[in-house]
Amino acid sequence: MQPAAAVAPPPDFANVGGYPAGTGPMAWFEQIRALLLSTGLPPEPSVYDLLWRYVRDDDHELSLAIDKALSGGGLTMAALVALREAHLGQLGEAQVNQLIADAHGQAEALGLRIQSGQTDLADYGRAIAVGGERLAGPIDATSLAALLEQLSKATGVIQAANGRLMDELDQAATESRALADRLSQAERAAVTDVLTGVMNRRGLFAAIEKAQAESVATGVPMSLAVVDIDHFKRFNDRFGHAMGDDVLRFVARHLAEKLEAEGGAAGRLGGEEFVGLMPGVGAQAAAGRIDRIRADLASQMLRSAVDGSSMGRISFSAGVAEHRGDQSADQLIERADSALYTAKRLGRDRVVPDRG
Ligand code: GH3
Ligand code: MG
Ligand code: MG
Repeated sequence: MQPAAAVAPPPDFANVGGYPAGTGPMAWFEQIRALLLSTGLPPEPSVYDLLWRYVRDDDHELSLAIDKALSGGGLTMAALVALREAHLGQLGEAQVNQLIADAHGQAEALGLRIQSGQTDLADYGRAIAVGGERLAGPIDATSLAALLEQLSKATGVIQAANGRLMDELDQAATESRALADRLSQAERAAVTDVLTGVMNRRGLFAAIEKAQAESVATGVPMSLAVVDIDHFKRFNDRFGHAMGDDVLRFVARHLAEKLEAEGGAAGRLGGEEFVGLMPGVGAQAAAGRIDRIRADLASQMLRSAVDGSSMGRISFSAGVAEHRGDQSADQLIERADSALYTAKRLGRDRVVPDRG
């Protein structure tokens, strides 16, 4: 007889993913748990997701907004929904519904216009048919003149109606184009980081997953770098948050321009961390590419746009990892992130490839 299946020991949550207790996802989980308990918010995915971003400080502006909500009055579900809409760049449900309602309204109005055009045309057809019948029989000059007058009036009416319909169709076409523009703007906004103009976290993950899928399909490698500005807190403390924001924009543009020139892309992971995406390149070449970008940035003296005074130099550290077929975007970033950690430990202002 088979022995009864042993009851599995309780999972060692503290070691999920090999993270020691009190670090990594477990520490974040503990913080989220405490926040859920203190705010009384329901542990739903949308709530958890926002708090996950908060405890990781993925988006500094979002973190500041949540801090503010927590210190004044508490974090309510309504505040949370508003924060999601404002900071995650997602098209809010209300926004999407509005766009759909607008498109629906336009289609309906256009249908009505065309229907009224058809009625005008039918009236015109009837006037011609009646005229035709009367012309088939004997007709005197006075009646003919009256008939021609009627037909000419009917023609005038249909011409005017057609003119109106044409104008209305033109207007409908303009409105449709405006609606399509609004939709594509909203779609772009949903994947763009407001502060720096490069891809946001959402856009970044979509781009990484696409590049990974392409790499798996074609067998051509792809790599990414996690880039973190060195001693950025110090810079903020010394020159102020606004100047810090300028530096974030500058670094984001610098990264994006250089990477895009070689078929790559850049996005903001959150805070002062960016990701450089390099499709078609293995870890070694990718590290070389990021290192050139690093050296170029570190060689530039930053000057205040206000008074031209020097703000010194800024450097970043980066970790680079090459995609392995079976890994998710999160796992790839995690590997690059631990190489980044090594780069920081070795003294910053350097690029370290993932050990493999
Ligand atoms: P390290 O070299 O170890 O990366 O040091 P660091 O100071 O860059 O790193 P740390 O994580 O201690 O601090 C990151 C700083 O980045 C703290 C935070 O105020 C700043 N920061 C994050 N997001 C923003 C932002 O949107 N604007 C500004 N101005 N600062 C930000
Ligand atoms: Mg950082
Ligand atoms: Mg930093």
